[in-house]
Amino acid sequence: MSITGIKGMNDILPAEICAWQFLEEQARKIFSCYGCKEIRVPVVEKTELFCRSIGETTDIVEKEMYTFNDKSDHSLTLRPEGTAPVIRSFIQHKLYNQDQVSKLYYIGPMFRYERPQKGRYRQFHQIGAEIIGIDDPRIDAQTLAMLSHYFDAVGIKDVSLQINSLGCPNCRPNYRATLIEYLEQRTDQLCPDCQRRCASNPLRVLDCKAKGCKEATHDAPSVLDHLCRECTEHFDAVQQHLKLLETEYTINNRMVRGLDYYTKTTFEMVTNNLGSQNAVAAGGRYDGLIEELDGPSLPGIGFAMGLERLVLLLGENRVKATQPKIFFATMGEQAEEIAFKLLHQLQRHGIHAEMDFSGKSLKAQLRRADKLGCKFTLFLGENEINDGNAQLKKMADGTQTAIPIDTIFAQLCTMLDDNTASSL
Ligand code: ATP
Ligand code: MG
Repeated sequence: MSITGIKGMNDILPAEICAWQFLEEQARKIFSCYGCKEIRVPVVEKTELFCRSIGETTDIVEKEMYTFNDKSDHSLTLRPEGTAPVIRSFIQHKLYNQDQVSKLYYIGPMFRYERPQKGRYRQFHQIGAEIIGIDDPRIDAQTLAMLSHYFDAVGIKDVSLQINSLGCPNCRPNYRATLIEYLEQRTDQLCPDCQRRCASNPLRVLDCKAKGCKEATHDAPSVLDHLCRECTEHFDAVQQHLKLLETEYTINNRMVRGLDYYTKTTFEMVTNNLGSQNAVAAGGRYDGLIEELDGPSLPGIGFAMGLERLVLLLGENRVKATQPKIFFATMGEQAEEIAFKLLHQLQRHGIHAEMDFSGKSLKAQLRRADKLGCKFTLFLGENEINDGNAQLKKMADGTQTAIPIDTIFAQLCTMLDDNTASSL
């Protein structure tokens, strides 16, 4: 049997790539308006990095990581997310010495050993941003506004922004204790995973998708009622500035996020159009993470968007591949020679041109031109060469024009150049 790819790890084929490129280009364009610069970090890191940052009792570290020993017996892990590697690099290269705020973004594959289904894969891709150095609530509002701007720009409408605050090391332990007390009275109604989480990661119970867990915890104490004064003021100010920037949001006090490092503001961009995979983007503030990874005591906030889910949501608005501008349909060796040279000249000029190399009949060449979606076909055969004029056919309406052979290149350049031919 021939070798196939790995379950849950997808090929992105040429027919789909335009949507990906569009989403990536828009991210580069929009994020750069907010001052973000791209950073590229390796796809593998020391396992310890993820255990220490994401948290030992999270789903990712407990069961989703691709961890292996290399030939020197070092434990390595394929990155399950981008924040920890970016922060590792930020600390290692002392990027904090360059400016008081570092605004970074990344695009690339992530790996989690999950059950593959629509919108959930084992290799998936994220576009993420990290704003490090300032904990001013305006930075939170600006980051959320940038995320919202991105969704507007790519034309994904059916999404809404949900926000919450998870407090800080001063107030979270109190809330955690209150929540544990509440959950302990209902352990028998919780799924086995959540029964275990009650002690290790109680906040995560609020995020459980199981119906029983949702029902049992419908009146759970809200984290927002347990924030300390500083966190309450911060969260209020984030909202005030979101209103100022006219960025719509709703508060979801049950959103806890699956990673340990979050503090204060957390958020998700959610949709109803992806079945049970309702989050398209997610993130939050992580004011203790950089210090936890032995860096300076600097705050940060960031998010990651799932590219596969963005592509699914683009749906109807999917971006179409660009099509060849011109096809040279030839008959006879001499015509082929002329066309072959012209093809090269046009391609060097930045114009997508095609011709046939397999000796197909004129009819078959035309069919191919049509199938490729070429805007024009240029006919060049013995008759045309004797006559000194090639025939240019506009595929949309079939109209034909004669073009003197020695002016073909110049004329096609004027007609087909994107900058001069906006009417085509
Ligand atoms: P979920 O609740 O869907 O498991 P998550 O909380 O694990 O998401 P994050 O770690 O916050 O997700 O990652 C941010 C985004 O990355 C998600 O909103 C989603 O779009 C995408 N994502 C996460 N895991 C996967 C996956 N296995 N396959 C495809 N996309 C994913
Ligand atoms: Mg997950």
